[in-house]
Amino acid sequence: MSDAEDDIAERKMQFLFALRSKGVTDARVLSAMEKIDRGPFIRGLFSERAYEDMPLPIACGQTISQPSVVGLMTQALRIEPRDKILEVGTGSGYQAAILSQLARRVYTVDRHKRLVREASAIFNDLNLTNITPVVADGSFGLPDQAPFDRILVTAAAEDPPGPLLAQLKIGGIMVVPVGQSDTVQHLIRVTHTEQGFEYDELAPVRFVPLVEGLGKDA
Ligand code: SAH
Repeated sequence: MSDAEDDIAERKMQFLFALRSKGVTDARVLSAMEKIDRGPFIRGLFSERAYEDMPLPIACGQTISQPSVVGLMTQALRIEPRDKILEVGTGSGYQAAILSQLARRVYTVDRHKRLVREASAIFNDLNLTNITPVVADGSFGLPDQAPFDRILVTAAAEDPPGPLLAQLKIGGIMVVPVGQSDTVQHLIRVTHTEQGFEYDELAPVRFVPLVEGLGKDA
C-alpha cells in the first residue's frame, strides 16, 4: 500500500473505532457505515475532515450530522430489511445512503432544491437505486407514499410533527430530535402501538431547526 492509502485506511479504522466507542454497536449499522464512504458527501474545504466524528458545514447553511449521531439514530430505528423509510432532511444525503443499505426503500425530502439535486447525483454515482429524493416541506411528511415503517427526522422540531405521527404504521418507529433550536434538544423515539404512541428519550443532541415551507431556491 502507498503512504496515502495507508493513511486513508488508518483514518477509516479510527472512524469505526470512534463510532463503537460512542455506543454504535449494532453490527449491521456498523457495516453500512463502513461501506458508505462519507467523503463524497462533503465538498470543498472540509472534505479532508470527512472521517472525523464531527458535524461539518454543507451548502445552504446546513450541516452534515456527526457520524456517531447518524449511527445512534440509525440504530434506534431498529430497521427491518423490508422497511419503507421516510427521512426528513436530506442535507448531504449521507444519512439516506446509510439507511439505503438496511431497508427496502428510502424516501428522503429536503426543503432545499439544491441539496436534493446534489444528493441525487451522489446516489446515482454510488448506484443507490432504492433512494427516492424529493423536494418538499417534510413537516407534512410525504402523503403520497405514506404510511411508513420508519421515519427519521434529521432537523429539530418543537414537538414530533402531527402529520408524521399520522404517517407512521402501527408497529412503526420514528426517531426525531425535539427541542428549541438553540437550547438542548433530545433525541426521541416514538413507537406506534395498537394502544397509541409510546415515547422514549434517547440522548441529548444538537440539530439545525425544522423550518416550515420550501427554501428560496425551490
Ligand atoms: N441528514 C442530513 C443532515 C440534515 S441537516 C445528512 O445526512 O447530511 C437538516 C436538513 O433538514 C437540512 O438540509 C434542511 O434543509 C432540512 N430541513 C429543515 N426543515 C425542513 C423541512 N420542513 N422539510 C424538509 N427538510 C427540512
